[in-house]
Amino acid sequence: MLNIAFGQSKYYVDNLSENVKRGNRQKLRRGEWPNKAPFGYINDSKTKSILIDHKSAPIIQKAFKMFLEEKYSFTNIRNFFTKNHLLTAKDNLIHTDKVKRILCDPFYYGVMKFCGEYYEGKHEPLISKRLFDKVQEIVKIKSRKRKDNLHDYPYRGFIKCGECGCFITAEKRTKYYKRTKRKAEYYYHHCTKKKGACSQGYIRREKLEKQLKVILKKVSLSPFSAKMFRQWAEKDASEEKLKYKDQINNHARQLEETNTKLERLLEAYLDKIITCEEYKNKKNVLVLRKVSLTQELKVLEEKGNNWLEPFNEFVNNALKCGKIVAAKNNCHDLEIMAKTVGSNFFLKDRRLSAGGFSARFNALFEQPVSKSASLPSLPLPLLLGDMDSNHDN
Ligand SMILES: [Zn+2]
Repeated sequence: MLNIAFGQSKYYVDNLSENVKRGNRQKLRRGEWPNKAPFGYINDSKTKSILIDHKSAPIIQKAFKMFLEEKYSFTNIRNFFTKNHLLTAKDNLIHTDKVKRILCDPFYYGVMKFCGEYYEGKHEPLISKRLFDKVQEIVKIKSRKRKDNLHDYPYRGFIKCGECGCFITAEKRTKYYKRTKRKAEYYYHHCTKKKGACSQGYIRREKLEKQLKVILKKVSLSPFSAKMFRQWAEKDASEEKLKYKDQINNHARQLEETNTKLERLLEAYLDKIITCEEYKNKKNVLVLRKVSLTQELKVLEEKGNNWLEPFNEFVNNALKCGKIVAAKNNCHDLEIMAKTVGSNFFLKDRRLSAGGFSARFNALFEQPVSKSASLPSLPLPLLLGDMDSNHDN
C-alpha cells in the first residue's frame, strides 16, 4: 500500500539538485556565498567574491541603526529604502516581509545562513554582532504585535470567493445586549467584492471553522494510525536496505583493494622499482577511482532511506493536523495547518471546499473507504476516523 500511494516519494532527492547542493556546501565551507549578493553587497565576477556596494551599504547600515529607535516600523524602513532608491532587481519596491528578512540576516555581521545552517563568511561585515543582536530583540517585539493583530482576524486572505475569485476577508461586529448589559463580539467572513458585483453573503466564523475542520480531518491521522504508518515505513526501509546490501559490500571491497594498491604503489616507488613518472600516473588513476568509489558508496548507503525522512515528516504533520482539529479555540493553528496541507480553498453559498492537497495528503484525502480491504488487517475508517471521540468531548 505504501508503495502505491507513496512510491513517488522514493525519488524525492534527484541527483541534479544533490550535486548543486554539494557544490554550494563546498563554497560555503570556504566562506564563499554561493548566491546573489544580498542588498548592500555586490558579486565580483572577477574574483568570484562578495564585495561591499558603496552605494547601498550605507543605506542598510542606517536602516539597522534606525530600527534601534523603536519608533520605526518595518513599513517605515521600507519607505526609507524606497526614498533612497533601494529597489529589487526588477525595480520593484521592497516588500515589508523582505525588510524583516534583511534585518534578521546574520550575513551583515559576517555569518552566512544557508538552508538552516550557519557558515563563517569571508566577506566584510557591515554591522557589529552587538547591533545585530539588539535589532533582533526589537524585531521579536514588533513581530509579536503584528501577529496579535492578525490573530483577531483569522481565515483572512487564503480562502477565495467561489463566485468572483476575490479573497474572503474577516470583520468584527460587536453586539450589545440591553437587558443583560453584556457586550459580545462576533466575527463574520465575506467576499471583499473588489472585482465588482458579487451576490455572496456573510458566514459566521464558527460555521466556517466547522467546515474547515471537516476538510482537515480527512487528511489527519490518529495517533494509532500514525504509529502503524511509521511501522510500515520502517519495515519498507529496512527491506530496501537489504536490496542494496550486495552492491554496498561489493563497493566496499573494491575500495579496500584500491587502498591496498595505493599502498603497494608507494612502496614500489620508495624501493625504486618504478620511476617517479610511473608512480604519479598510476597514482592519479587510483586516486580518481577511490574518489568515485567513495561517492558511489555513500549514494548507495543513503539510497534505501532517502524517502523515509520526508515520509516521517508527513506522518508527523498528519498527526498534528488531527490534534489541531480536535482542539478548541485555536483558529490560528487551524489556519496555519490548512495552508500547510491544502491549497485553493473556495467559499461559495456558505460552503467551503479545498481544491487540492500537497502530495501525500492528497493520497489520504482521496483514499476511498472501499480500499480499506487492502490495508493490513485494519479497516480504513478505524485508521482514519478515530478522531471523532476526541472532537466531541
Ligand atoms: Zn465574491
